[in-house]
Amino acid sequence: MNAEIIAIGDEIVSGLHLDTNSPWLSQRLEELGVRVLYHSTVGDELEPCRDVFRRAIERADIVISTGGLGPTADDLTRDALAQATGRRLELYPLALEHIRSLFARRKREMPKQNEVQAMFPAGSRIISNPHGTAPGIDLEVPRAGKCDCRFFALPGVPAEMIEMWNAVLGPEIGALAAGQKVIRRRKINCFGAGESQIEAMLPDLIRRGSTPTVGITASKTTISLRITAEGPTEDACNALIEPAAATIYKCLGTLVFSEGDEELQHVVVRLLREREKTLATVEWGTAGLIAYWLGEVAQSDKGFLGGLVVRYPEILALELGISRDSSLNQQTQSEDNARSMAAACRQRFGADYALAVGCFPRFDPREPMPVYLALADAKGVIVKSIPYAGHPATLRIYIAKHALNMLRLALLDAL
Ligand code: ATP
Repeated sequence: MNAEIIAIGDEIVSGLHLDTNSPWLSQRLEELGVRVLYHSTVGDELEPCRDVFRRAIERADIVISTGGLGPTADDLTRDALAQATGRRLELYPLALEHIRSLFARRKREMPKQNEVQAMFPAGSRIISNPHGTAPGIDLEVPRAGKCDCRFFALPGVPAEMIEMWNAVLGPEIGALAAGQKVIRRRKINCFGAGESQIEAMLPDLIRRGSTPTVGITASKTTISLRITAEGPTEDACNALIEPAAATIYKCLGTLVFSEGDEELQHVVVRLLREREKTLATVEWGTAGLIAYWLGEVAQSDKGFLGGLVVRYPEILALELGISRDSSLNQQTQSEDNARSMAAACRQRFGADYALAVGCFPRFDPREPMPVYLALADAKGVIVKSIPYAGHPATLRIYIAKHALNMLRLALLDAL
């Protein structure tokens, strides 16, 4: 069984409003084993809406649209669906009663134009919307030579749409899809190598048409491997996913840092807690990004003690007692600074570990200089140089992740 999701609204096609309904619905459908084949987006115009509905009905067993069920002239879902399916619009007295009662509860008279919200294509069932004036539409549309298409039209307001999914669509579609195939996914996150390098380390896994499918994606310098399996049951899917995951772990070793939505900062905070260790940070180039991430995750955790943000060399002297050695060249100076920053920060906070990010050099394509990271612990200080490369928009994130990864590897005794 497959599905198409349609987001309706001028504000969505114009880019003023982000469509969050479609991804949410996709995930719910997939949990029920329904494969979503298409997402469509269309503005508030009758003919384009009607055409998108017609095409969706033709190619998907289940269609869910959101938006365009309001009372105003630009709310055209009812008319477009009636035209796409060749049905008349009829007044449904029960729906009208519900809309009137909502206005009465708000001590207001129902405007005449709200009556259109009680108009439905003939043969529709009403999907109750307890907190909104726009009831949803549930319509079975016959198709020549195929099973009927089940069309659900929901309001655009996310809270209303979610409530109606939970009460009606989830159970109904769940019953339709029962006994059909199940889809399960697993996402394994890696850091420390590029996309193509990681792909080359995984023999034959990322091949189109293979079972299970393994896809590779890069997001903000984290590389993720997504394993997807389809089968009759959850156990059958897991039996397909497990060997692929085991191969990934075996081939990539410590490049793998987590699964699902766990980021490097979550892993670092967890490892610090498990080992009962503390951490402090001092950041120049990353301007406090690492402390921000750790602070968000650590909350009441005592593993992250705090961080300093440095913007000028004078602050190094003032806060950490680090003075410049004018005999050093710029590169050695930067390396030396990172080393001293980590050592002084560890002392100042009384932490088990201190992470330091040195300043970002001025970018010069003829003579690129690296960024220096340093990690201090009871054994001494390790300094690492990271090539200053890539788009400036992702550079800060990339360097901050490198620093966290350095600490992760140290906590795993793998540095
Ligand atoms: P209403 O009765 O509230 O007018 P409606 O079905 O006509 O319901 P729209 O007018 O299309 O819905 O949208 C109402 C609001 O819902 C929008 O202003 C927007 O904030 C939100 N919304 C609509 N579509 C989406 C979407 N696809 N993703 C996220 N939010 C949406």
